[in-house]
Amino acid sequence: MKIKDIFEKKRLVFSFEIFPPKTTTPLERIYETLDELKGLQPDFISVTYGAGGSTRDRTPQIAMDVKNKYGIESLAHLTCVEATREDTEKIVSFLLDNGVNNILALRGDPPEGARDNFVKGDFEHAIDLVRFLRERYGETISIGGAAYPEGHIECDDPIKDLHFLKQKVNAGVDFLITQLFFDNELFYRFMERAYIAGINVPISAGIMPVVSKNQIERIVTLCGASLPQKFVRILHRYADDPRALEEAGIAYATDQIVDLIAFGVKGIHLYTMNKAHVARRITSNISTLREAVPDPKGEKVLS
Ligand code: FAD
Repeated sequence: MKIKDIFEKKRLVFSFEIFPPKTTTPLERIYETLDELKGLQPDFISVTYGAGGSTRDRTPQIAMDVKNKYGIESLAHLTCVEATREDTEKIVSFLLDNGVNNILALRGDPPEGARDNFVKGDFEHAIDLVRFLRERYGETISIGGAAYPEGHIECDDPIKDLHFLKQKVNAGVDFLITQLFFDNELFYRFMERAYIAGINVPISAGIMPVVSKNQIERIVTLCGASLPQKFVRILHRYADDPRALEEAGIAYATDQIVDLIAFGVKGIHLYTMNKAHVARRITSNISTLREAVPDPKGEKVLS
């Protein structure tokens, strides 16, 4: 089923993101994760596309298995980095031949350490990939895009960023998934701005449970997410106690999700970091809320 249709059918779309294991790690490792995630009944699982070819070859295979072996709707990430039209067509044909008709179209980032000398592909921005996919495949696929509640890290003007987002949606994006954030109020402000800008596709909130110290350093450098005082206190108190940090990280993410559902968000996208036990605990914490989401008809919903 196309993810566009899942958003139309369901009041709350609950999804997971996984990443392919490094090429030095057996592929089987991801199937152990998927064995556990399957029981949590996500509406779809997305599979990331590694930077600079690192794990790229594994993405279509895993995306296909999510759909066919596990019977879960699958969303394959695809990026512009170093991609030609021919490469992209090859991957999309493989996906379509194997029943995967959902693609998250991203610009991606140059491979680490190769910012200045990587091979540019045929697409510069995500919008170019979206246009290509829509023209080439029409409505046979559902296309998602990335959104940034705090603005994309390279863009110093949030209004400009929103303008580019609106153009990307107009080019054929059916739904958006946001970058992770830790301050729901920033997300709500973004939702308001998106609504005013006329961005009217469903927006899924990206939530990452922070359960290890390394994660934090990477997050702050890579995406510049703001860290609210409440979150910083948790880090200071529990950073050197892995079990306590995991407990606190799960509680914090749960708290964010409870509030987001109360707000009326259309989707929650959990960055699982391939930690199925963390996804299991969060899913269990919100199980009643998933079932009891009120019908948004007649209510003011911002997306
Ligand atoms: P774009 O939409 O192209 O935006 C990038 C920047 O360019 C922004 O600053 C924007 O304001 C600006 N811009 C956009 N259009 C134009 C234009 N026409 N002219 C001038 N400037 C413009 N990365 C991976 O490598 N693999 C993944 O699997 C992956 N999955 C992700 C999943 C999610 C949900 C998210 C939020 C991000 C993911 N990323 C992934 C990271 C993403 O690739 C990076 O954040 C990247 O820097 C931007 O990608 P984008 O698709 O948002 O790019």
